[in-house]
Amino acid sequence: MREHDLIQRYFAGRAPARPDVPVGMGDDGAVMAVPPGMMLVSVVDTLVSGVHFPADAPPAAIGHKALAVNLSDVAAMGAEPAWATLALTLPEVQDAWVAAFADGFFGLAQAHDVALVGGDTTQGPLAVTVQVHGLVPAGDALLRSGAGVGDGLYVTGTLGDAALGLALLQAPHDEPDLRDWLLNRLHYPQPRVAAGQVLRGVASAAIDISDGLLADLDHVCAASEAGARVQLASLPLSPAFDALATDGQRRQLPLSGGDDYELLVSVPVANEPRAAELMAGLDCGWTRIGEIVASRDVVCVDAGGRAVEAGARGYSHFQESE
Ligand code: ADP
Ligand code: MG
Repeated sequence: MREHDLIQRYFAGRAPARPDVPVGMGDDGAVMAVPPGMMLVSVVDTLVSGVHFPADAPPAAIGHKALAVNLSDVAAMGAEPAWATLALTLPEVQDAWVAAFADGFFGLAQAHDVALVGGDTTQGPLAVTVQVHGLVPAGDALLRSGAGVGDGLYVTGTLGDAALGLALLQAPHDEPDLRDWLLNRLHYPQPRVAAGQVLRGVASAAIDISDGLLADLDHVCAASEAGARVQLASLPLSPAFDALATDGQRRQLPLSGGDDYELLVSVPVANEPRAAELMAGLDCGWTRIGEIVASRDVVCVDAGGRAVEAGARGYSHFQESE
């Protein structure tokens, strides 16, 4: 199948049509209208087979996740996602695979009213690059650098589910329903897009948790020139995680497991009641896990307030020397 036919069959005319896209797929470039007073937030992420997902992962999950990881970054900026491009590199065209991939991608695109405005299709080792453009009122983007000493630290959802799902991927389990729930968290992350937008003007800083809580918290602290104290007993765990994690996994994965795509947010004390009120209206969980402190370290404390060795940092592609 030629590139043109593949695009026509699987990708043309499928995404939500948006009035702010006068020229979408099919020309040399797409043309989009940025409303007055808004600014563009651009993010891009590449998923490589065998690195970011197993080569035999369900194609619908790959399509979903390639978009989800980008929507998660847009959410962490407090922006509203609007337009996406998709660069797809396929070793060969298998109809069922591409159809399922497209279903996964467009299912999530539809849910967030994101239009696919263009892309590129090439032959080679399986890799997917998605770029998303979002909109945010000028000057209102949530940044990593805004956390202040004393701010409360919050996370959406639950932690460690995707990492435990990955650990359980290879083997059956005598709790198949709980295992499936965790695999679903791994394969079909739900980006916290609504949360990011309601927290604009209320939160002081935000990041999405892709590399693990401690690694991403460290990014916020570095950008904000501060540190943090994390209450281990407060970390939100799902019932499935609670039931299936070993003691070692329970100590490690909520802190350093990657792929959760929850938001980590700092909120000035004066705004905490407002944030709780806004987040109560969303169905994604909102848990206070600690606070921002002046000294640059990230310290974990147990229920008795004693500092605890946090162990392995979150997953990192390039070994860090610290
Ligand atoms: P060009 O050679 O000018 O780069 P292409 O033949 O690569 O054009 O693409 C033709 C049109 O199809 C362009 O509008 C491009 O954005 C779009 N397109 C190509 N691949 C994809 C894809 N995987 N998903 C969405 N749009 C695509
Ligand atoms: Mg091209």
